[in-house]
Amino acid sequence: MSKLQRRVVTAAEAALAQRKYVSVVDIAVGLGWLRSAQVDQWRQGRVATLEELAAVDGARLRDTADLLGRWAREGGLTPSETAYIAGNRDRAPLKFVAHGDDAVFRIHWLAPDLSPARRAQLVQRQNKAPDLVVVEATSEWSCAECSDTGPYLIMSDTGPLCLTCADLDHLEFLPAGDAALSRRAKKESTLAAIVVRLNTRRKRYERKGILVEEQALARAEEQCLADEEVRLRRRERDTVRRATQDDEFRVRMAAEILRLFPRCPEERATEIAEHAAVRGSGRVGRSAAAKVLDREAVTLAVVASVRHLDTDYDRLLMDGVPRRDARTAIRETLDRVLESWRE
Ligand SMILES: [Zn+2]
Repeated sequence: MSKLQRRVVTAAEAALAQRKYVSVVDIAVGLGWLRSAQVDQWRQGRVATLEELAAVDGARLRDTADLLGRWAREGGLTPSETAYIAGNRDRAPLKFVAHGDDAVFRIHWLAPDLSPARRAQLVQRQNKAPDLVVVEATSEWSCAECSDTGPYLIMSDTGPLCLTCADLDHLEFLPAGDAALSRRAKKESTLAAIVVRLNTRRKRYERKGILVEEQALARAEEQCLADEEVRLRRRERDTVRRATQDDEFRVRMAAEILRLFPRCPEERATEIAEHAAVRGSGRVGRSAAAKVLDREAVTLAVVASVRHLDTDYDRLLMDGVPRRDARTAIRETLDRVLESWRE
């Protein structure tokens, strides 16, 4: 056995004992070629390949994958090809190395002593689409699509996007701290994202909270209502929400929506306008253009609302469908709803 072979086997046995499966990424971390924070960074879609962050090159990683495969087959482990999808806005497949095929790196080797049920559960969990990750800005930045800036950004293949361009600006921020409420809100929300912030001193991303749908948060709060503290917090949040809404703007915007879309239900127009009127949230309706109730800005706010509420868009994104494909898939439904509101 070569020295590398011995090290790979030791790391593989450790990973297998701990988690009942082993992957090349586990080995690379086990051998000290990658730190787990770097793996997180890659999983968030912040670098083009894992190789870029590793202390060894792609060829060495490939040799390691081959050694792992040989050891695993001899030990009777079962290969399971696993989806690796970026947690960024494009949901693109993650790349391991700059050159050559990635298939060998996606294989997870499962322990031979697993029951069929446990194996199915493990495979399902490994293939689950990762959480979307939104980053709280800590330095100046501008959006790759609209050149605007904002308190939050999400990575995409073309660079950082603001929440408006990323179709996430309808979500509400729920700070971390109440585990039960966070868990329920995330479960209730079709689309949700984790918010992290870089701790520059500790050089790692820390979880600050989640972005969830307003209705999901309300439902989760209902479920938690027995808890007096939560009730208090909701009252506080409602007060803040009301104080930040610009009444006059809201009424004018609702009227403008109904002028452009005469058959849009009235309460829906009000809802869209209310949403757009939250001050300083960086939502479509608060842009300078919408302030003067520009036709295009109003239409954009309506389109965003239809996309989130009347199509499968958010569910598709949560399932890991790339953003472009999701947009194509729902275009027909979107157009049909808009058309039915125009006549
Ligand atoms: Zn933007």
